[in-house]
Amino acid sequence: MTGSSDDVVPVAAPARVPVQGGGTFPVRRIYCVGRNFADHAREMGADAPASKADRGTPVFFAKPADAIVTTGEVPYPTATRDLHHEVELVVAIGRDAPAGDVSVDAASALVYGYAVGLDLTRRDLQAAAKAKGLPWDIAKGFDASAPIGPLVPAAGIGALGGRTLSLQVNGALRQTASLDQMIWDVPEILHELSKLFALRAGDLVFMGTPAGVAALQPGDICEARLDDVLALHCKITSPSL
Ligand code: MN
Repeated sequence: MTGSSDDVVPVAAPARVPVQGGGTFPVRRIYCVGRNFADHAREMGADAPASKADRGTPVFFAKPADAIVTTGEVPYPTATRDLHHEVELVVAIGRDAPAGDVSVDAASALVYGYAVGLDLTRRDLQAAAKAKGLPWDIAKGFDASAPIGPLVPAAGIGALGGRTLSLQVNGALRQTASLDQMIWDVPEILHELSKLFALRAGDLVFMGTPAGVAALQPGDICEARLDDVLALHCKITSPSL
């Protein structure tokens, strides 16, 4: 993504996520999964499927690629009094999908690696949007709404199923769950996404959050982890800093 002499405004550089061990991952798109843990769906007042057979189709939304934060400093956003954390596994797509749907069996081959991130949410604006049947963009896709830790190539992670996702805020545990509890696992989500969008190298997918979402305040220190293999450390700073 370089500039052209015909450009009438400057071209922004792509957001990039550092890769543990070296290199950077340029971000093309950020997709997010909603209601992928039953306990979180219930705490938000939504129905949770009783079984995989009843799960219907996943809830998807998106954030702009430049919502990524990799500096560890997340400014408290404007226009909210209820900024919530949602700790999530993040999948990084490493190659373009072939034309057509990607099968569940073929989906894992698209994965470059994984990170942990926060799907930061203006919960008050989301509640107002839900009440009126309006889109979630202003609740979910605001500036600096997607802090993310370093990516680790998939080979360094191994099987995801039994691993534990967690978030501590100021040293106190707020959210924890086994990835076994995801209603839709990674290959299933990539299969479903591929019916809707052409997946491309550079895409990130936030996989949804377990129960325990709650408010953040300026000064809070967040430590998200997937066991001892993925981590994100960040601080919520005041908007003026
Ligand atoms: Mn989320």
